[in-house]
Amino acid sequence: MTKNIWNPHFETMPREEMRTVQSERLRDVVERVYYNVPYYRERMQSLGMGPENISSVDDIHKLPFTTKQDLRDNYPFGLFAVPMSEIIRVHASSGTTGKPTVVGYTRHDIGLWSEVMARTLTSAGAGKSDFIQIAYGYGLFTGGLGVHYGGEKIGASVIPISGGNTKRQLQLMKDFGSTVLACTPSYASYLAEAIEESGFDRDEFKLRVGVFGAEPWTENMRREIEKRLKIKAIDIYGLSEIIGPGVSFECEHQCGLHINEDHFIPEIIDPDTLEVLPEGELGELVFTTVTKEGLPIIRYRTRDLTRLNFETCACGRTLVRMNKCTGRSDDMLIIRGVNLFPSQIESVLLEMDETTPHYLLVVDRVNNLDTLQLQVEVEDRFYQDKISELQALRMKIQHQIESATGLSVTVKLVEPKTIERSEGKAKRVIDNRKMI
Ligand SMILES: [Zn+2]
Repeated sequence: MTKNIWNPHFETMPREEMRTVQSERLRDVVERVYYNVPYYRERMQSLGMGPENISSVDDIHKLPFTTKQDLRDNYPFGLFAVPMSEIIRVHASSGTTGKPTVVGYTRHDIGLWSEVMARTLTSAGAGKSDFIQIAYGYGLFTGGLGVHYGGEKIGASVIPISGGNTKRQLQLMKDFGSTVLACTPSYASYLAEAIEESGFDRDEFKLRVGVFGAEPWTENMRREIEKRLKIKAIDIYGLSEIIGPGVSFECEHQCGLHINEDHFIPEIIDPDTLEVLPEGELGELVFTTVTKEGLPIIRYRTRDLTRLNFETCACGRTLVRMNKCTGRSDDMLIIRGVNLFPSQIESVLLEMDETTPHYLLVVDRVNNLDTLQLQVEVEDRFYQDKISELQALRMKIQHQIESATGLSVTVKLVEPKTIERSEGKAKRVIDNRKMI
């Protein structure tokens, strides 16, 4: 029963016992944020409540929500609940106004992150004798280092190759005998194609399982990756505001992602009314981190749409399962694992006086990699200019957007008044990726 389970005590805990653990930890975190984070204290006071109103997990709905905007408003460290001397790591992700969302970890939090990633990798069937090739980006992005610490905790041999350099990925995958691949599903798909084109024989590789996340992907994409790479493809889910990767993970049955709910309490709400929805209904996923010290987050609105299943899984875990995410409750795009808001593009264009804020983003998937094209109108006077000057402007826009968002983009300049105007909400995005 404990096959591929890292922490049977918590992962197979009876539901009633889990609720007791969650209730204790919730009371603790509410006290911590109330006394250590002025922002939360003020929010709770304005709702006429305090720690004394939280006696069990049933009271969680009384607490205020937290959004990405709240993190930005408190940039960079305003929501941290410990002195900076306790913080040993900072990560960040891009934001709409150029200000990133900043998250901080204490030594305890890094240990917690390693624990939930150890559960994730063990669930995928990885262990001491595995070589884990980590092709997620390392750096401010949480993907690379999150998987890294989990890999070391389970005693696997970690290969911190980071993303890109496909030729070298294949060479080391073959030479080192990598058995586990961790990256975004779109990069996995690209690697599959690269292996086919490389002239290497698939049998020269020992790859057995993939741990893929950081962007939404479909069952069709999973089947394609599994077939082409001849591996088992496991979905993992996380977001830096909660911890990074390790929030939830699939088991070998691939029937929903088990949430590490002894650390992250999930709720499903109606994104319009903000009411908690009954068990099993589709809505926006919300998390409260109950054990994190550096940046505890109360009722964080993920904008991801999913539903929860509380039945015990065939794997023996009692941890609640969330469905693979089916969409987002706002306009955020996820491109090659990077979050992008159309307003980020808009603010870059508004800062340049050669362009108008009339633009269109065309997202597509070519050879299983996301592509981003920006069509933008230029001021009339520039359109009279020489081709070489337009070319220079095109490169300038491209460069500005890449440095603001971290995403490569193709820029197409169009004549004034060619992009369709709208009376209501402007259509800024055409997403041609098929997410069936
Ligand atoms: Zn399971």
